Amino acid sequence: MKENKRLKVCRECRLFVEGDECPGCGSTSFTHSYKGVVLIKDPATSEIAQNLEITKKGKYALWVK
Ligand SMILES: [Zn+2]
Repeated sequence: MKENKRLKVCRECRLFVEGDECPGCGSTSFTHSYKGVVLIKDPATSEIAQNLEITKKGKYALWVK
C-alpha cells in the first residue's frame, strides 16, 4: 500500500511544499491545515489564479490557516 503523507502548505503563497523552503516565495512558514487543492497551469489566463493572486504555476491550497 502506498503511504499517503499529508503535505504541508506555504502560509505565504499557499503552494504545496516538499522541502524545507518554499520554492515559490522562499518562506519557511508552513501549515498542515488547509482546504481544497487547485492546480494552476497557466496563471496568466486562470481566473482562479487571479482571484488567489497566484503568479506562478503549481499546486496550491485554496485556504490555509
Ligand atoms: Zn510560498
